[in-house]
Amino acid sequence: MDCYNCGATLNRKTRSAEHILPNSIGGKRKAFNLLCKTCNEKFGRSIDNDLASKLARFYTLLNTEGTAPKTNTTPGARKDGKIAAHERFIASVKKDRTFAGSTGYFRAIAKICLNYYLSKGYPRQHCETIRSFIRGGNADHIYQYYAPEHKAVHDPGENEVSHILHIRGSKESGILYAYIELFNMQNLVFIFSLDYDGEELNATYCRDIIKNEEPVKNIQLDLTREQLENPELSSVEMEVRLFPRFERLMHIIQSNTP
Ligand SMILES: [Zn+2]
Repeated sequence: MDCYNCGATLNRKTRSAEHILPNSIGGKRKAFNLLCKTCNEKFGRSIDNDLASKLARFYTLLNTEGTAPKTNTTPGARKDGKIAAHERFIASVKKDRTFAGSTGYFRAIAKICLNYYLSKGYPRQHCETIRSFIRGGNADHIYQYYAPEHKAVHDPGENEVSHILHIRGSKESGILYAYIELFNMQNLVFIFSLDYDGEELNATYCRDIIKNEEPVKNIQLDLTREQLENPELSSVEMEVRLFPRFERLMHIIQSNTP
């Protein structure tokens, strides 16, 4: 097997334990057949860091199972600058109703989707567009926030906070895409291929970061080619629609705080 980023042969010396979902947001599952050590470290310093700078705080604030990074994060305790920074960030999200992620942030989320896809052993030949985007290439319109108006793709349980990954490949429609939820509030669709001629694919993975479990979830999301190519709403409008999901997370964090 080769590194999907640089093509280096992966052997005992060069392979690395790549987290499917970053450790910084509670990912536990790893795969050794994805990235070489050099690329893993390079992504860790760049795009993974962009993602952690926005999202790791929520994992820390949930303070689950004692596995969250040990920082002084009790809301209200202002012993170091970190709480003030958290609160500033959260206030800005509330005000603007957006995370306004950098491209690096979205590249890191795309990498999670590709990690999951490849960890399933699905064929690499359909991944060129998303791989190029992760590497920093231009890939307009390959991702969008996704929040349907009437029915959520996945309704988390009352106090559930989880990450969801879903891959769907349809031979009939010739499309291959991933749906992802991070903390059930950063919900996005990434297009892998609009020229898909492979097998039917339908796989879902869930990591519940409160219960520290991987519950079975059944996600049925049959997007059409039209929906992928011409989203009904802009990504900005979709993100505004996701805002109650952010408020829900903040509510769970507050009710978990002693
Ligand atoms: Zn590599």
